[in-house]
Formats: sequence, C-alpha cells, structure tokens
Amino acid sequence: MEEYYVDKKAQSNGEHVIHVATCSCIDSVNDKENLGAFFSFQSAVQEAERRGYTANGCKICCLSCHTE
Ligand SMILES: [Zn+2]
Repeated sequence: MEEYYVDKKAQSNGEHVIHVATCSCIDSVNDKENLGAFFSFQSAVQEAERRGYTANGCKICCLSCHTE
C-alpha cells in the first residue's frame, strides 16, 4: 500500500490534486492532507471525495488516473 495526500489548495479549475507520498513534486505542496494508505489510487480519490474534495490525479505520480 502507498500513502496518499491531497493538496488542500484547489487548482484554478476547483480540483484538488492527489499525490502518492513518494511523488517527486510532493515537497512543493505546502498544505496537504494525509488521506491514509490505499491499495489503489482510485481508493484514495474516493476517500478524498468522501471528505468533500473534488479530486484529480497528479500528472507526475499518477498519470493513468489524471483526467483533463
Ligand atoms: Zn504527484
């Protein structure tokens, strides 16, 4: 399992980007919330949405989950 974080600061389109803890850009995210550890990125997205975020995958660590 991997730990996932959601950027608490929304993008200009209102989406909050989700990263894995090992993402190369995670250090540039100053204000992030730990979502917990999940087996899949989709589960992390569901958790973020359960917490009220409109979530999208990070282009760097989760390109397969990123939607335009
Ligand atoms: Zn990332």
